[in-house]
Amino acid sequence: MSTIARPEILVAGGGIGGLAAALALARKGRCVRVLEKASEFGEIGYGIQMGPNVYPMLETLGVFEAMAPHVVYPDALVLADAISGDELSRITLGAAFRARYKYPYFVIHRRDLHGAILDACRRNENVALEASKGLARFEQRGDRVVVRCEDGSEYEGLALIGADGLWSPTRAAVVADGPPRLTGHVVYRGVVPTDEVIDRSYLNSMVIYVGRNMHLVQYRLRAGAVMNNVATIESDRFKRGEPNFGRPDELEEIFSQCAPRVRDMLRYVSRERNWVLYDRDPVTNWAQGNVTLLGDAAHPTLQYLAQGACMAIEDAVVLAAEVARHGTDFNRAFLAYQQQRMNRTARVVLSSRFFGAYIHAGGGARALRNELLAQRSPDEPWEADWLYRGIDVR
Ligand SMILES: Cc1cc2nc3c(=O)[nH]c(=O)nc-3n(C[C@H](O)[C@H](O)[C@H](O)COP(=O)(O)OP(=O)(O)OC[C@H]3O[C@@H](n4cnc5c(N)ncnc54)[C@H](O)[C@@H]3O)c2cc1C
Repeated sequence: MSTIARPEILVAGGGIGGLAAALALARKGRCVRVLEKASEFGEIGYGIQMGPNVYPMLETLGVFEAMAPHVVYPDALVLADAISGDELSRITLGAAFRARYKYPYFVIHRRDLHGAILDACRRNENVALEASKGLARFEQRGDRVVVRCEDGSEYEGLALIGADGLWSPTRAAVVADGPPRLTGHVVYRGVVPTDEVIDRSYLNSMVIYVGRNMHLVQYRLRAGAVMNNVATIESDRFKRGEPNFGRPDELEEIFSQCAPRVRDMLRYVSRERNWVLYDRDPVTNWAQGNVTLLGDAAHPTLQYLAQGACMAIEDAVVLAAEVARHGTDFNRAFLAYQQQRMNRTARVVLSSRFFGAYIHAGGGARALRNELLAQRSPDEPWEADWLYRGIDVR
């Protein structure tokens, strides 16, 4: 068992959520130890969208300034029909948007976001970071929790925060609701130099081409130097119960409905790796004594509102505020945190499912969607108004 000079809060998982939680707690004067399963702390090399709700959270964590040089502010979010290629609707992200939500919408490379939080953790003497420390199990002993890692090492803490992602072993013990829900949605990604991009219609915007059971997102990163491309399909083979669903040949098959210039954009995504998507039905029991969950471990969501990481960062700030308020009573702090986060994150999970079905519409549903989108004005608040207005951290 590791001996600890000062009582610590243990965090399992050093992704965006776990590191944000560690930093938020450390900035409230708590000592935190992050146990990360991977051999290094890191993130995948693709982009991520950040809604205006998360901007003040990053300021609270004191990391926005370090991220600022890497941030890109798209001028609009454009929805275009993948089959006709026509623009359907746009949400302008300029002055009216900023006036409404107080903060901007931005995109950033995941490594720049994760790296800024990681650097801040490294600079904070209250944070200890340990790689190659996968949580295998934990045991609650009175007012302590003992974590046993896969390598046999043990750590004792005042509390445990399971920020260990979609397949969280912490969740398996706390909620015990089985594996996440396999959705049959599959993602292919790619980042290419912007110079290589042939269709330059929406270079300063985020664009989403939508079609039956598919969409493709494009936006620029790193001062515009590279283009992030994300192609998602909702697999017909999965719906038919076929095992090898979501393979590159199915990606091509589903994209064959698209206008040639959209189909052509598949050249920017790699076929070497894909991501099969899962989510979970919302639950109401993330907190168990001095153990709780955060981020994807608590409320994994489909990506259709682009808010999974935003929710994890909001979780971190709320959690730290409740821990600060309740002193050593982690049970009360964690229940208060769960109470504040439960319905908001459930709404993200359920709205993301709906929004996915909406953009992936075909046939008559596509015609209706396109008509509804054509009726909206670019400065009108859309369905995510409640989300973008953000939270008050009490
Ligand atoms: C295609 C796609 C696009 C997305 N786009 C957006 C977007 O635009 N905006 C947005 O906000 N969100 C987006 N998301 C969601 C976002 O990526 C996730 O919600 C977010 O990364 C979750 O962070 P996390 O720290 O909770 O979990 P993770 O990032 O999964 O981190 C978990 C960490 O725990 C570690 N770990 C796992 N098991 C253990 C263990 N046993 N012990 C210790 N450590 C362990 C892992 O190695 C990892 O480092 C997207 C997701 C997908 C799939």
